[in-house]
Amino acid sequence: MSDVPYKTYLPENDIPTSWYNLRADMKNKPAPLLNPATRQPCTADELGHVFCEELVQQELDNDTKFFPIPKEISDFYKMYRPSPLVRAYFLEKALGTPAHIYYKFEGNNTSGSHKLNSSIAQAYYAKKQGLKGVTTETGAGQWGTALSMACAFFGLDCKVFMVKCSYEQKPFRREVMRTYGADVTPSPSDTTDVGRRILAEHPGTTGSLGCAISEAVEYAVKHEGYRYVLGSVLNQVLLHQSIIGLEAHRAFERLGVKPDVIIGCAGGGSNLGGLIAPFMGEKLRGEKDYRIVAVEPASCPSFTRGVFAYDFCDTGRICPLAKMYTLGADFIPSANHAGGLRFHGMSTILSQLYHDKMMEAVSVEQTAVFEAAEFFARTEGTLPAPESSHAIRAAIDEALRCKREGIEENIFFGLTGTGYFDLVAYQKYNDRTMTDQIPTDDELAVPRAKLP
Ligand SMILES: *Cc1c(COP(=O)(O)O)cnc(C)c1O
Repeated sequence: MSDVPYKTYLPENDIPTSWYNLRADMKNKPAPLLNPATRQPCTADELGHVFCEELVQQELDNDTKFFPIPKEISDFYKMYRPSPLVRAYFLEKALGTPAHIYYKFEGNNTSGSHKLNSSIAQAYYAKKQGLKGVTTETGAGQWGTALSMACAFFGLDCKVFMVKCSYEQKPFRREVMRTYGADVTPSPSDTTDVGRRILAEHPGTTGSLGCAISEAVEYAVKHEGYRYVLGSVLNQVLLHQSIIGLEAHRAFERLGVKPDVIIGCAGGGSNLGGLIAPFMGEKLRGEKDYRIVAVEPASCPSFTRGVFAYDFCDTGRICPLAKMYTLGADFIPSANHAGGLRFHGMSTILSQLYHDKMMEAVSVEQTAVFEAAEFFARTEGTLPAPESSHAIRAAIDEALRCKREGIEENIFFGLTGTGYFDLVAYQKYNDRTMTDQIPTDDELAVPRAKLP
């Protein structure tokens, strides 16, 4: 084995003190959010009814390169950051590849994923504005868990609308959120107008993310002192997640290593956007070159089979329009699909970069993803989240390419979380009842025809 230490921790005084806003280095800026009623760019005033003030400023700012991280947030980051950058020696050996594989592990906190990096920032700004609390939706439960931890820290009310089928199937996620003091309501519920309407129209429905978003927004708008927060897709979330890439960039500099390929899974784009931020900045400024690869599920292929167009972010069609790679707001991925990454659209920043050919995208099938997850767990020891395992699949495929071509490349991927709460999916894989469901062109044409 080489002399590179197995796990590379950054010294404490080396935690980045600012987030990096990739938009400042983009010549082609991401398209603005549009008000669905007027089709004009959303103003700070309009967004301020739904979101916290300072987060609106971050959302709309395409020019400020660095945002200093407030002390309260960096103090919280010190509880679980810097996250380890790990050289995957055992995986390399098991694959027999000449490639060097590195990963940045974001699962070392109770919520189990990178989402805490943004939830703590969003909770801080809500508190600073003097709000009582925040509302949100959660599907699989990671975002709701991360937000409840952050709200407990700052003493804010946290109201989570959890998709009803998850609420029933994932009681453990629910209990973690309740332990941190969150109020968790199965959605659709009879506590909002939109929830009551949906329940009347579809009695017995098990809910959807789109419906839970509509309920969370309605609750925030109708209750004094509440705002709505979102865990992915938005520019502000990518800004907060830049902490992942900044730490990694410094660690690689200290090691004297330059990654050749950078790989991340893509649901709404927040971990990938954060992971690649400083590297993509160098690429945009013409200083260095990297191959950057987004990995998405074949069952929800926004980049690889979607269109670049304005679309709604929610099924209820009440949120702003975003210009992004989308499958259409009515697209519902197969229920069989076990992992997260189920969003029909994509971050506007990453969409613009992909459109400008600054990055690549691949889609991978579910069983191949779980094969990679199992291989990774057995070699590297960590049980990965199904979402993260999309990136593992692509990293293994790149390492096998290096083996075939006999070349030594540095492969770097984001390991976004642990799989402890996804054991039902692992059970399906172990029982061999998991299948691959890839939408046909005809199935994709239906929601695409309904784009606004
Ligand atoms: C939410 C989540 C993702 C996907 O969300 P992005 O916004 O695309 O990063 C990936 N991995 C884990 C573990 C998650 O919880």
